[in-house]
Amino acid sequence: MRRAFSRNSRIFVAGHRGLVGSAIMRRLKAEGYVNLLTADREQLDLRNQADVNSWFRDHRPEIVFLVAGTVGGILANSTRPAEFIYDNLLIHATTVHAAYLYGVQKLMYLGSSCIYPRACSQPIKEEYLLTGPLEPTNEPYAVAKIAGIKLCQSYREQYGCRFVSVIPTNLYGPNDNFDLDSSHVLPALIRKVHEAKLAGQKEVVVWGTGTPRREFLHVDDLADCCLFLMHHYDGSLPLNVGTGTDLTIYELVDRIRKIVYPEVEIVLDAEKPDGMPRKLLDIHRLEELGWRFKISLDEGIAATYQWFMEHQEKATKPPDSNATTLHATQHRVSR
Ligand code: GDP
Repeated sequence: MRRAFSRNSRIFVAGHRGLVGSAIMRRLKAEGYVNLLTADREQLDLRNQADVNSWFRDHRPEIVFLVAGTVGGILANSTRPAEFIYDNLLIHATTVHAAYLYGVQKLMYLGSSCIYPRACSQPIKEEYLLTGPLEPTNEPYAVAKIAGIKLCQSYREQYGCRFVSVIPTNLYGPNDNFDLDSSHVLPALIRKVHEAKLAGQKEVVVWGTGTPRREFLHVDDLADCCLFLMHHYDGSLPLNVGTGTDLTIYELVDRIRKIVYPEVEIVLDAEKPDGMPRKLLDIHRLEELGWRFKISLDEGIAATYQWFMEHQEKATKPPDSNATTLHATQHRVSR
């Protein structure tokens, strides 16, 4: 099949320091792409359209992976809804618009499986988007992510831009966030079980009832899929990306415990929210295109634990103290 871009194309990875962006960078480098463009937060505030426009004018990317954004787990989503909706709405809009203005050949936007209705049938098909109410614990974030997909579809429809969207399931892997206030469940539990082991504790506390079901994909598999789809998919419909299998949170913690510290007992804190009861993506469309994941969950947990052990200082720091806080302070007018 014809490839959509070459080893010399100018490729911008927006969000290159994050879990997904860093995996895409690793993959592009491994495949021999040589013109990789990145911008640090200090260099470019992706929420500012004028700045983003001048950056695109100066750097002229041909291919864009739009994976920048403010992200986090269930607690961060519940406690910082304003940051999640404001940052993401702006980042997605400015980048898509600049990509249109400066003639980007192809852009890939990443949604999230939390954008589907809370109570939709499982596994979740792409066409269930916008068919029912969202999960309240992450609704502001989900609204911003849905807006990102609609941006890509609208620019495609009105201007003929080759902008595509994919909807990955829950992700994990190297460069994940292990800060317990803002992380997702898998890195949080790796850290909690590891710290229980170091302290010789008998118990590890797991939030919620342990019954919600989630599907997990290693971020290196996602990066592989993103490259594959960038070359071989050019449609308006956002495509689900996952493994096609899920498990309960309790089963997940049990697997982590077996790898990290088998002696520890799992204690459930049912006061904490469960979030969506189930999120399993239907991946038939992706399979028909010829892509399948490679890294099993046990392999992935073991590799991520290894990464965590080797990068503990970096991994346990709260993520980039957010530019938003600064921005909000600067612009807040006292009443
Ligand atoms: P979600 O998939 O958007 O709900 O995000 P999370 O990864 O944050 O949470 C998934 C599920 O794991 C929810 O039911 C949480 O209550 C549960 N969970 C259990 N322990 C933890 C924990 O220590 N941290 C997080 N983030 N979630 C946990």
